[in-house]
Amino acid sequence: MEEIEVLVIGAGIVGLAIGYKLSESFDEVLVVDKESGFGKHTSSRNSEVVHSGIYYQENSLKAELCVKGNKLLYEFADKYDIPYRQCGKYVVATSQEEIFALEELKIKGEINGVNNLKIIEEKELKKKNPQIKGVGALWVAGTGIIDTHRIMQTCEMLIEKNEGMIAYNTEIIGIEYIDKKYEVAFKDGTKIKTKTLINSAGLFSEEISKMLGIKTEKNDLKIHWCKGEYYKSSKIKNINHLIYPLPDPNGIFLGIHLTINLQNEVRFGPNAYYVDKLDYKMDTKYKNDFVEAISRYIDIEPENLNPDDVGIRPKLQGPSDEFRDFYIKDEKKKGFPSYINLTGIESPGLTACLAIAEKIKKTLNY
Ligand SMILES: Cc1cc2nc3c(=O)[nH]c(=O)nc-3n(C[C@H](O)[C@H](O)[C@H](O)COP(=O)(O)OP(=O)(O)OC[C@H]3O[C@@H](n4cnc5c(N)ncnc54)[C@H](O)[C@@H]3O)c2cc1C
Repeated sequence: MEEIEVLVIGAGIVGLAIGYKLSESFDEVLVVDKESGFGKHTSSRNSEVVHSGIYYQENSLKAELCVKGNKLLYEFADKYDIPYRQCGKYVVATSQEEIFALEELKIKGEINGVNNLKIIEEKELKKKNPQIKGVGALWVAGTGIIDTHRIMQTCEMLIEKNEGMIAYNTEIIGIEYIDKKYEVAFKDGTKIKTKTLINSAGLFSEEISKMLGIKTEKNDLKIHWCKGEYYKSSKIKNINHLIYPLPDPNGIFLGIHLTINLQNEVRFGPNAYYVDKLDYKMDTKYKNDFVEAISRYIDIEPENLNPDDVGIRPKLQGPSDEFRDFYIKDEKKKGFPSYINLTGIESPGLTACLAIAEKIKKTLNY
């Protein structure tokens, strides 16, 4: 049986970033994906926002890796000519009570190490953005948008340049831990041995742990799929920043926000609802929720909203749970040393991808 040093499961943005970073230090790194190319799941179905790190609990991995990842991602984009725009965003308050919430969010962000946060008053908000309806806003200068496809393409190129390997159409269907090595079985009947196994399988990360015999429910590693839909609008123009409401009080999502892409097209979303089936079909029954949520911060007519993308979040936080952090661990305590388990890598996973990769490199003592 062929043997390699490191096997990374998943060629989404996180798996590819890990593959790239580890291929700098290890001779034999293989990234595999069951699909025919990179980023066929969550990594191509998101808001493409480089988050600042204001939202997450103090000392959480989400806060730490988002703040670090934001800086690393912009540097990476500069170095490899990846299109991005650090356009900043407004979190808009629509009532006086929400102004207090903005102030709390600002403090939270500052505790997390986010710089250049500023509360602006209604007059200034209106002057700069006549279309936005609000009584004030939190200005977040570090937020931006980025070409996610190009990040993945660049990581793929760097893995190959460092003599790492990537194999598509390569689905893992079984894993055994034998004599301090992982024996990984593929759907085509072949097998490979590896000392280090990295689970970056996104929506399917729970399935990978189950293949090893880890009792995911007992260990609080159950993944809940949470759908998010987008609508686009060609009627709204001349928007130069992202516009967010205050986040959902249950912490399930950031609220239906307005993003622009690099071509300045306007998109709204995502909403959030839990699903059992992996199905990227748009359910237009939620359109009214969009109209209601958007109308609080900008005028919109239902006929000016057209269905766009759909993504699914791999969440550890179930419908009635509190905040859950990223889970990134060497599972040696469970009897699986050098099985690095990444579970619940939802937002801000895109922003954090390079910081996650550096963390994993350190975990493996490099
Ligand atoms: C609606 C939405 C909006 C978001 N917006 C943002 C945002 O604006 N900013 C931000 O920072 N984050 C955002 N995120 C989060 C971000 O998109 C994710 O954190 C990130 O894409 C996760 O990447 P990943 O590589 O872990 O997972 P994925 O991209 O899902 O990759 C996992 C890969 O593993 C492969 N795989 C699974 N099982 C197997 C197997 N058995 N064998 C082989 N391969 C396998 C899959 O085919 C897949 O390609 C958003 C997410 C959603 C859903």
